[in-house]
Amino acid sequence: CGIVGYVGRAESRSGATHGALDVVIEGLRRLEYRGYDSAGVAVVADGGIESRKKAGKLVNLENELAEHPLPESLTGIGHTRWATHGGPTDANAHPHLADGGKLAVIHNGIIENYAPLKAELVAKGVQFLSETDTEVAAALLGDLFRGAADGDITKAMQLAAQRLEGAFTLLAVHAEQPGVVVAARRNSPLVVGLGEGENFLGSDVSGFIDYTRRAVELGQDQIVTITPESFVVTDFFGNPAEGKEFEVSWDA
Ligand code: GLU
Repeated sequence: CGIVGYVGRAESRSGATHGALDVVIEGLRRLEYRGYDSAGVAVVADGGIESRKKAGKLVNLENELAEHPLPESLTGIGHTRWATHGGPTDANAHPHLADGGKLAVIHNGIIENYAPLKAELVAKGVQFLSETDTEVAAALLGDLFRGAADGDITKAMQLAAQRLEGAFTLLAVHAEQPGVVVAARRNSPLVVGLGEGENFLGSDVSGFIDYTRRAVELGQDQIVTITPESFVVTDFFGNPAEGKEFEVSWDA
């Protein structure tokens, strides 16, 4: 339902240092108005992915984080879920992990063709821990990352997006590419927030409004890869594309 992504570096040009977790939690709080039944976050740290997720309100996730803190990180994603496939449980909350826990995925929307894709992945030996359509997208990304995409998360997202039907804003991070968040959108919104030495993603501008007013709205069937210094937009086949840049003018 609500989506936030962040990449920064130790010190951004503005002199501010934001930890990924703080930015992501703040963004999720701003997105609470959309309604949700679960929340979760993942950060890339120490060569791996660390994730926490909880059914219920954001405060449940925050209590979980207080009890089991995450390491410092400059790359993170966060999600508030409105369950469509699988009930509102901890296990069905996002992020969903794949590729042996090295890949984390969050998703807004519905993957219409998740059932045949799941059957295909199960036949390949993939084990699923949730009832969600989202975990199928995560497993597909993991499979492509190790296979046709040759260890490139952006390429894996392109190949996955080509195979997914329905409505999705998908964000992914991979432990082998720290400092990168990749996202795809079809029939579901996605906005990039442009910072100085840090960049943001949101299902709407509320996800990063505390940090920047410069934004880029992605078009239909586009993919964006953000790093602290860059954002690159393509279509699902890797051809260069452009979003629509704008300034957020309303008072928040
Ligand atoms: N279909 C996904 C699920 O049920 C995503 C729902 C959402 O947009 O939050 O987990």
